[in-house]
Amino acid sequence: MRFDVFSLFPEVFQPYLDISILKRAIANQLIEVHTHNIRDWATDKHHTTDDTPYGGGGGMIMKPEPVFAAVESVLGSPPTCPVILLCPQGELFTQAIARELATEDHLALICGRYESFDERIREHLATRTISIGDYVLTGGELPALILLDAVARLQPGVLGDREATDDDSFSTDGLLEYPQWTKPAEFRGWSVPEVMQNGNLGEQLKWKRQQSLIRTLKWRPDLLEKANLTETDWKFIQKYLVQNSHDDPDE
Ligand code: SAM
Repeated sequence: MRFDVFSLFPEVFQPYLDISILKRAIANQLIEVHTHNIRDWATDKHHTTDDTPYGGGGGMIMKPEPVFAAVESVLGSPPTCPVILLCPQGELFTQAIARELATEDHLALICGRYESFDERIREHLATRTISIGDYVLTGGELPALILLDAVARLQPGVLGDREATDDDSFSTDGLLEYPQWTKPAEFRGWSVPEVMQNGNLGEQLKWKRQQSLIRTLKWRPDLLEKANLTETDWKFIQKYLVQNSHDDPDE
């Protein structure tokens, strides 16, 4: 899968791409990442990429010409792949969107900076606008890396067999993942649950599922509405709620 990233600070990307799983994925040619400095397409002598906003107001606005020129010279006009503009006003990035984007073989990512970008970039160049959360960062580079990382790790072969994504939070069943432990079995008096140390595989699978249900119920009950739950899951949830109702000060 290929990513083309357009930014005023492309140097941000390399250190992250040079480590661990993404480094291996690039070395194994499972993903390729091309970063482009939008400033290279600014044609005036100062390589200007921003200007003051029409209508006044603070801050500077990214000019449309260098961004259009950069994207179109690399990807053609119009680009044939999805062009994603990172923006806090966009649709909220989720694991479901990551899965959807992972089916593409090519994505372009445009990183904003300054107060904003000229609206024509959103209207006439981007095919999708994505936010990584309801907060405002100084630029789109971290959001682009977050999206790239989440999509890249879903590419076949990027994670080893032992790092399968099926049990990940928000994945197959739409639940939070169960808690996990490693050795030592005892640390500062805190023990790994007995079932995870000595239980059989069937018991452990059942326990993991129940832990996923409990965590989701406690921490992200909103996810349960869309989760893929079986009748056994619902029975377990009802039983758990009855058993624990006395712990809830509102009940
Ligand atoms: N004034 C803009 C607003 O209120 O919507 C925020 C601009 S922000 C300071 C500069 C750039 O950072 C944005 O154009 C966008 O590319 C990126 N950015 C900031 N927060 C983001 C978020 N939550 N998700 C995606 N991109 C974000």
